[in-house]
Amino acid sequence: MRRAAYRSDKLAWWVRRTALLVGLSVAMGGAQVDAEPCGCAAPGRPVAMSSRFVVYSYPNGPSPESVLDASEGLYKSVCRSLFGQEPAGCWETPCQIVLHADRASYSRAVRGGAGSVGSTWIRMVAGRIVGRRIDLLAESADCPRALAHELTHLALANYWPEGRPPRWLDEGLALLADGPEKQRLHWQDGQVAVEYGAMIRLNTLLTDERPLRAEQIPAFYGQSLSLVSFLLEHNGEPQQLLRFAVQAEKVGYDRALQECYGIAGVQALEQAWVAYVRQPRDPGRTVGIASSLVVASAD
Ligand SMILES: [Zn+2]
Repeated sequence: MRRAAYRSDKLAWWVRRTALLVGLSVAMGGAQVDAEPCGCAAPGRPVAMSSRFVVYSYPNGPSPESVLDASEGLYKSVCRSLFGQEPAGCWETPCQIVLHADRASYSRAVRGGAGSVGSTWIRMVAGRIVGRRIDLLAESADCPRALAHELTHLALANYWPEGRPPRWLDEGLALLADGPEKQRLHWQDGQVAVEYGAMIRLNTLLTDERPLRAEQIPAFYGQSLSLVSFLLEHNGEPQQLLRFAVQAEKVGYDRALQECYGIAGVQALEQAWVAYVRQPRDPGRTVGIASSLVVASAD
């Protein structure tokens, strides 16, 4: 799940993205003005920090040092997988990673986050990232993978001009850090959408960044995952996928598809992708970036 906060309403073009849903009941609509990071530095909160992250745990919670180590390792793994290189330099302000003991604490920090176990918050001002925060529900068994998922959002925000990768790409790549079972459920949602008329047409999925309606959410996640998987299987390098998405922002998707994948345009992509989604799929199958992240997040 990713949240973005902007000072200008005009720039509040996307708000939240929730990948780690237990139940798909979270409305994604409506601009959100996120609360400033809450009083997570209150006395008694164990803290560990590096130049890149500040981890806030809670009394008797996970060791902040171990979460810090895991975050550093996972972030490097994510950057190597996505960009083919180690993360460069430091940030002006480190990313806060806030661990929550229970759902009540998590929900106070992540508005609309019912059903999710991880959330990334990015604050942009004048095209620059000035705030980063990840909230995690530590009691969840999915927490390590949730951390990998959220760090993928973080890495993409840092990579993308003005911190705003296309929504389908951002969520599709982050979903690859989730476990096989969660991926399978999202994949099923995409198949159901294709087969039963709830499919978001690709020319909309690729370019429309308006808030999703609640009933579109399962299709959005399922389709984003399968579309990213399709393109990665077409050309297995995540760097090529990133080049494609950057190029599409410059010249449009039709031309970028021709240049980067030899696909005639969005309509041809949709036909090929629908056929791909309809194929029987091994439930444990993962693609490209997923393999390395799964190994890293299971450590
Ligand atoms: Zn997400």
